Parts: sequence; C-alpha cells; structure tokens
Amino acid sequence: MRPEELNPLFAEIDSLDGIGPKLKKPLERLGLERVRDVLYHLPERFVARRSVADLDEALVGEQIVVALTPTEHRAPRNPGRGPYRVLAADAKGNICALTYFGRASYNAKKQLPVGEKRWVAGRLDQYGDMLQIVHPDHVTEDSAGAMGRLIEPIYRLAEGLTQPRIGAMVEQALARMPELAEWIEPGLLSRQGWPEWAEALKLAHAGEAAKARDRLAYDELFANALALMLVRQSNKARKGQSLQGDGTLRDKLALPFPLTGAQKRSIAEITGDMAQASPMLRLLQGDVGAGKTVVALEAMLAAVEAGAQAALLAPTEILVRQHFETLRKMAAPTGVTIELLTGRDKGRAREGILMGLVDGSVQILVGTHAIFQPTVSYRNLGLVVIDEQHRFGVSQRLMLTQKGRVTPHTLAMTATPIPRTLVLAQYGEMDVSRLDEMPPGRQPIDTRVVALDRMADVVEGVARHISSGQQAYWVCPMVRDSETASDDLAAAEARFAALKERFGEDVVLVHGQLAPEQKDAAMARFAAGEAKLLVATTVIEVGVDVPSSTLMVIEQAERFGLAQLHQLRGRVGRGSEKSVCLLLRSSELSEVGKQRLALMRESQDGFYLAEQDLELRGGGELLGTRQSGEDGFSIASLEQVQKYGEMANDDARLLVERDGGLDGPRGQAARTLLYLLERDWGVQMLRGG
Ligand code: ADP
Ligand code: MG
Repeated sequence: MRPEELNPLFAEIDSLDGIGPKLKKPLERLGLERVRDVLYHLPERFVARRSVADLDEALVGEQIVVALTPTEHRAPRNPGRGPYRVLAADAKGNICALTYFGRASYNAKKQLPVGEKRWVAGRLDQYGDMLQIVHPDHVTEDSAGAMGRLIEPIYRLAEGLTQPRIGAMVEQALARMPELAEWIEPGLLSRQGWPEWAEALKLAHAGEAAKARDRLAYDELFANALALMLVRQSNKARKGQSLQGDGTLRDKLALPFPLTGAQKRSIAEITGDMAQASPMLRLLQGDVGAGKTVVALEAMLAAVEAGAQAALLAPTEILVRQHFETLRKMAAPTGVTIELLTGRDKGRAREGILMGLVDGSVQILVGTHAIFQPTVSYRNLGLVVIDEQHRFGVSQRLMLTQKGRVTPHTLAMTATPIPRTLVLAQYGEMDVSRLDEMPPGRQPIDTRVVALDRMADVVEGVARHISSGQQAYWVCPMVRDSETASDDLAAAEARFAALKERFGEDVVLVHGQLAPEQKDAAMARFAAGEAKLLVATTVIEVGVDVPSSTLMVIEQAERFGLAQLHQLRGRVGRGSEKSVCLLLRSSELSEVGKQRLALMRESQDGFYLAEQDLELRGGGELLGTRQSGEDGFSIASLEQVQKYGEMANDDARLLVERDGGLDGPRGQAARTLLYLLERDWGVQMLRGG
C-alpha cells in the first residue's frame, strides 16, 4: 500500500484550485494527472529578465520588464484577421506595440486601459520600424508582481495552457508537499552538497536549479536501481525449474546456415541459465539483422526437450505472424507443435489452442500480450521469450513471469543498442548476452540521401528494381503525436494511390489504421513475393524480415531519429544480395537533420549510430519518450544517468545487502520514494515473491 503521507500528492490534479474541465485535455497531453505530476513537471529553462527604466536602455531580443502606458488600441481591420495591437509609451515617450493574436486579445482589452500605467514583462522585438512585445508574459498594475519574476521558469506547454497557469499549479503543488524522511545515504548527501527533497523541488522550480536537479535525478536513479535490485533478489529466491534438454529436437533442426560464433555463445549462455533451478532473467542484445530469432528458437526447443512449454511474445501482430511462419518453417523437421494467439482470435480456433496449452499438446505459443491474459493457462510454461523487449515496460515484463506454478525462465531480446551504463540502469535485474557479430556474407547497404524534388527519378528507380524481379519498401512517416497523425495518414494514403497508378497490383499498403485482415493480407502477399512494393508507415519498423526485399525508400527521412532510421533500414540487407536505401529529404533541412542523414550514409553500426543520436538529441529516444517511459527516466538526463548511475546502484546495493533492505529506517524512507516515483513494482515483487 502507498504510504499515507503521499496521499496529498497522488490526489487528482483538479483538486488544485482553478482547474476547470477545459484544462483537462491539455494537461492530459502533458501527462499531468495528479498533483505529483505537477511537482515533477520541471521547467525546461529559465528566462532572466532585466528591469529597464525605458526602452532606450533595452536591446532588441532582450527579455525585459518595463513600465508602459497604453495610448491607443488598434483592432484588426477584419475581425479575426491580423493581430490586435495596443500602442503604449514608456517614460520617455518611446512607443512600443503590445501585439496579440487570436483570443489573447480579449485579455489585452481588459488589462491595458488607455492612460493607465502598467508593468509589462516580455521579449522586446522589432517589427518593421516599430518596437513590439508579442504576447507579453505578464501585465500587472504594480511593479512588485512583474519585478518579482525577474527570473522565471519556462514550462513545457500544450495548446490551451499558459505559463502563468502552470506556474500557479506548481505553486499550489509545492505547498502540499509533505515532510519526508531522507532516503539518500547521509554521507553521500553531504559530500554532494545536495538539498533535501522538498527544498530540491522548490529550488528546481525557482531557478537555483543545478544541485537541486542533480538530487532529483539521483532520486530517480536510486529508486530505479533499488526496484530492479529487489526484482532480482526476489527472482533469485523464487522457485524455478531446471530445464536440461537432451538436444534431440535441436539436432533435427535443418538450418539453412551455420550459426555464427556469437549465436552459439549466446545459446550456450541461455541454456546454461535454463539448466539452473533459479529462474533466468537474461537480455539478448543484438543489432538489427544479427539473427536473434534463431537463438530464441534454440532456447525454446531446449525447453520443449525438457518437457516444458515455451511462449514467444512480440509487440505487433505483423511481427507475431511473421515469427509464427518463420518458426513453423524452421522447426518443421522437429515435429514440435507451434500455435499462434492474438487478441483477434476468437471462437473455436481459440478454444482449441487454449485447450492445447492446458493439456500440453501445444508446445510453443507465439503471440501478442494476449498470451498472458488470465484466461490463458499452461500445463507447464518453462520459458518466456520477449521480442523487441524495449516496447514493453518493466512492470509488464514482470507480469509475464507470474504465469505458472513455478516461475518460468525469461529471455528478453532487443535490437536497441544500449550503452553499458544504460543497460545497468534499465535492465539492472538482468544478465546480458550480446550478438556482436553479423551473419557472414552481408553486404553494406548502399545508403543515399536524395532531395524530394527528384521524386520522379526515385519512382523510375523503383520501377527498374521491380522489373528486375526484386522487391522494395516505401516508408512514409507516421508520428504518433495526435496533432499531425491524420495529415501523415493522408500523406501515406496519397502516396499509395500515386504509386498504385504507376504499379497497379504490384503495390500493397500497410498502416496502423487498417483492419487487421487487410494488414495480414497485404503483408502475406508481400512476404510471398506476389506484391513487389510495400508502402507502409513505421508499423514495419521492428522485426519485419523479408530477405528478398532489397530496396528501401524512406520519405521525409529527416523526421525520424537515427535509431529509428537504422531500424527501418535494417529491413533490407538481410540476404546476400546488395541492398539500397534511399533517404528522401525535404528542401528545408535543419542542421541536425543534415548531420543525421550524413551519419546514416556513413555508418551501418547500430551502436555507433545510437551514440551519435544521443549526442544530437540528448537521449530522449533511447530512454523512451520522456514522460511516458515505463522504464525510461523522466527526470534524469543522459548525462546524469552516466554521472550518477553507478553511485545509485552502489547505494541501492548497500541498502539491500547491509542496511536491512526496506525494513530499516532508511529503508522505510526508500520505500516511500519507490511509491513517489512509481517504482512500486519493486515493492510488489517482494510481497509476491
Ligand atoms: P534480428 O536479430 O533482427 O531479429 P533475424 O532473427 O530476423 O534478426 O535474422 C535476420 C536474417 O538473418 C533472417 O533472414 C535469418 O534467417 C538470417 N540469419 C540468422 N542467422 C544467420 C546465420 N548464422 N547465417 C546466415 N543468416 C542468418
Ligand atoms: Mg527480430
């Protein structure tokens, strides 16, 4: 149970004053649902303002506070078109326009009566030969209000919210902070010169942020490390089953290629773990195309040889279906029964599979998270494989291992090339195997950046490619952000229509909004080689494996992150044929966008690209989207993870191994922290185990 002292912070956000139903949506979009979320909605930056006696003292572009007296209101000639301007004079008679767009002008009318002096805070700009301040941040009657905000936090906003609104919420949230016992080891706290928790939050919102933010980041890293450590500890204490296959099934596998050294080593590490009684928690890390699927198959067959069942979980239906086909084909000589289960399967077929799981006749199950619903029970689930594991959060990851009387072994697989420090921070509970060697015979993918206005040439290139009997992907961007999603979808549909005009039945389309049956049909036609060109959104980003496809076109490539481009490009270059990747770029390209595309041309090394990506964008993508990430960090930056990650791990270990875990006095405080930062699955694990 959550400690009671935290209740005020977990109250709904509308328990704060001044939050009407209109704000619900924008707050939700920012992930602000409870008082606690507001506390941790830390400023993106601060503006420092200078107080000036008159405009002669100020520079264009500078943030200032100045006294102005409105002289005239100028409404736009056509209502609703053009800005609303209030002309105002400073102490020397210099005129400045206060400019408002849209509905903001209603306030301006009230706040800025002609002839009455006001203090105005904002950024001084020049518009033609006129000085102006667009949407002043503050307008007050007395100087104290605006002057008091010489340094002001700037928060991330969503449409419908303003800085003062968020500021007011933060102020109330800060006032509701309870007094919490210190969870950081006292020696460490004083060595670092960090403020205590409540003080740190106040400072982080007030502008003296550096030490305060380090402390708050440390809190997060410590909570994370501690939770993972508790998981690991309880997992060790759990009852698992030793699975020691005799190799009879694996011997029958007729793979069309020899395994690489890295694959053999990983398989040995995995089966070694599975032979132990304590449940395995292992991460298999390997770049796109390194051959993780066959490693999973070997592990699953080993489980079946030992009389247990295995389940393979993947994040998308497309991927699940593909795995099902691949595994069935590869495992055909073994005679093992493999079935497929997704949320979509209903009725008799589903019943049949559920029965087969209970009586043990289904030996390997492949599916989406549907395979772990309460209605699905297994005779003896011995191994769970989670593909593209970064798509699942830690708590989901843990839930999966609760199936069965004994805890199954878990193998998580990811292509995300996470640097070691982050592996520790994100997967601290796991051992790691690495596929650091590509299957032989792969040719580098010839990657080219092409300007969008050469579209006609690109289409002709695709035509030549197809008529020579090969296949191609065409990827259109689809950003999950709801504001641009429908435009993106329309663009993908339009591109499909245009290509269809040119290529007829050779083209198929796959995107997230299509009916599942349509998606399947399109993927199946493409995989079978009947369709030559697959137009798709990023739904094909992970896992899709059609080795005969050797051309990848990515539209608006500058909109993707490096890691994502690398994943997408990894859909080609999977066989021994030479592959080409065309990155179509728009004419307006930012500096970062240019660098990113250049890097893609230079390198095919996922690890290198991930590191460069971190430098260019500051870690957001690798760490999971900032506010949502179930196992991403929402407070700590990448630098802070690198700086304090080890320290947090050591401290967590000290607490668990020496200082009595969560039961000692510091442990009690740490338990509160786990709830505060929503790592309470760590606590839950202890209780469950
Ligand atoms: P990923 O690691 O991205 O999941 P896959 O398991 O999909 O990679 O494998 C990529 C491709 O490489 C598949 O077509 C697979 O059959 C092939 N492959 C896997 N291992 C080897 C190997 N040792 N030699 C040659 N090809 C291999
Ligand atoms: Mg894969």
